[in-house]
Amino acid sequence: MFKVILIVGDGVADRPVRELGGKTPLEIAVKPNIDELSKRAVLGVWDPISPGVRPGSDTSHLSLFGYDPRRYYSGRGPFEALGVGADIRPGDIALRGNFATVNDELVVLDRRAGRTLPENRELVKYLNEGIGVVNDFEVKFYSATEHRVAVVIRGTTVSADVSDTDPHEVGVKVLKSTPLSNNENAVKTADVLNKLTLMTYKLLKDHPLNNVRVERGLPPANIVLLRGAGKMAYIPKLQEREDIVLGKCLAVSATAMIKGICKLIGFEVITPPGATGGVDTNIMSKAEEVLRAYRDGYEFIYLHVKGTDAASHDGNFKAKVKVIEELDKAVGHLTNNIDLESTVVVITSDHATPTSVRDHTGDPVPVLIYSPELIGDGISNFNELSARSGSLCRLRGTDLMYVTLDYANRVRKFGA
Ligand code: ZN
Ligand code: ZN
Repeated sequence: MFKVILIVGDGVADRPVRELGGKTPLEIAVKPNIDELSKRAVLGVWDPISPGVRPGSDTSHLSLFGYDPRRYYSGRGPFEALGVGADIRPGDIALRGNFATVNDELVVLDRRAGRTLPENRELVKYLNEGIGVVNDFEVKFYSATEHRVAVVIRGTTVSADVSDTDPHEVGVKVLKSTPLSNNENAVKTADVLNKLTLMTYKLLKDHPLNNVRVERGLPPANIVLLRGAGKMAYIPKLQEREDIVLGKCLAVSATAMIKGICKLIGFEVITPPGATGGVDTNIMSKAEEVLRAYRDGYEFIYLHVKGTDAASHDGNFKAKVKVIEELDKAVGHLTNNIDLESTVVVITSDHATPTSVRDHTGDPVPVLIYSPELIGDGISNFNELSARSGSLCRLRGTDLMYVTLDYANRVRKFGA
């Protein structure tokens, strides 16, 4: 069995950029190391979910690791909670929440408490210290951006079949959560959400930070409105799966959402110093972690680079080219220091993020698989166009993980 190193430039795939003479950042970037590996690899294109479906980084990463997102993706609540670094386990429910402003009758005056809320972290800490448990459910709040929070509720009888306390409009009272199915767990959970909502109001209404906000003429963040309850699905870890053979796995990433997903499916996760998830990220320090894990006997190592996606969302194709060139140096450092006679190396993108669109699209992305036992396609550059002529042709969704592990001799036989 071979070791596997999987390298993803998040959103690296693009469409022709007019300012680059109709070429893509992958075509323009100077990347001798990736192109050298390309010659000895097989190339193709990959639809991260299926043709034309625009993936989030969460659903595309499930697919990347061989988990059909249509089966395992349990909604935005749980995955947004993962995205803010929440400890969420299969069976927990997660909700999205807003700090909001209500009057004494619990009529919503501002669903976002003014939106700008630098007090978010401190108020979340205060809520966690003051609440912790409601009935016999554990409750934990996590800070997100601006006025947003995530809430994770844990208990053996917790249910996601409950309605929102957020009325989604102003001028009306905070809603009472009701069970959406006729079962005892939903009744219990709705009761917990109602108690929890009132507890946030009691704790927040006279909080000193809110008094200061009122003095300054700002809306106080005096309640948390909850919406979109979702239950984290049971996802077998890579090591538990019966169709593949994997032991120790490590993911190197600076992105909370990706780290959360990786942890959930059995990766150890590490963020080296200098790795930021932005365009200024230190990719070489990530490559060092990959090499360390490689020498320590890890069998599947995932290297995630977010800077390409960050530049794409900004429409900054120049920065994107630069991040690709940095990634190339890291790839060179890796290929110079691993045993290519016993390692499978994959380079791809979790979705396209065209700089012209500034968001994810459903375009197929280029993929390169190097394996010591494969005859390469001899394609001496790696980009959206060249990948179309490769022998891998077009892979869909979870195919990529199986094809990769097959070339690493880590897939069990289907049938006798
Ligand atoms: Zn992504
Ligand atoms: Zn993105």
